[in-house]
Amino acid sequence: MVRVGIGYDVHKLARGRDLIIGGVRIKSEMGLEGHSDADVLIHAVIDALLGAAALGDIGVHFPDTDETWKGADSAGLLAHARNLIEDAGFAICNIDATLALEKPKLEPHIMEMRARLSTILGLAVDQVSVKATTSEKLGFVGRGQGAVAYAICAIENQ
Ligand code: MG
Repeated sequence: MVRVGIGYDVHKLARGRDLIIGGVRIKSEMGLEGHSDADVLIHAVIDALLGAAALGDIGVHFPDTDETWKGADSAGLLAHARNLIEDAGFAICNIDATLALEKPKLEPHIMEMRARLSTILGLAVDQVSVKATTSEKLGFVGRGQGAVAYAICAIENQ
């Protein structure tokens, strides 16, 4: 049986923070703010995976009240989510994600993000799709105040 999951996340942009998206550090004046490294794309992917297996959400497994996850590398959280999925008897079929951010341009970093995510998840790079868009200067993304990520995945019984 194939099951699908959806994930969504938002983080605020702030000065003096590193911009880390899809496990890739990107040169930027502003970075995403959060309890962990605020990797909005990885957080959406984690929620999609957990959702597909009906295993709750990122807040259940990695509460932001827990000091363990303060400043955490989200790649480590994603690896943990992979273990949860596999322990529940599922294999990941594919992931597709879209990131909305006004600047900087993400296109030069997309391949590196796909490579990084597929390595963490033990997938081929063509099983992981990452797309980027701006918000045409509309809303909080358009004003450069934050980033939004959406992810969907399919998993199947092993
Ligand atoms: Mg988050």
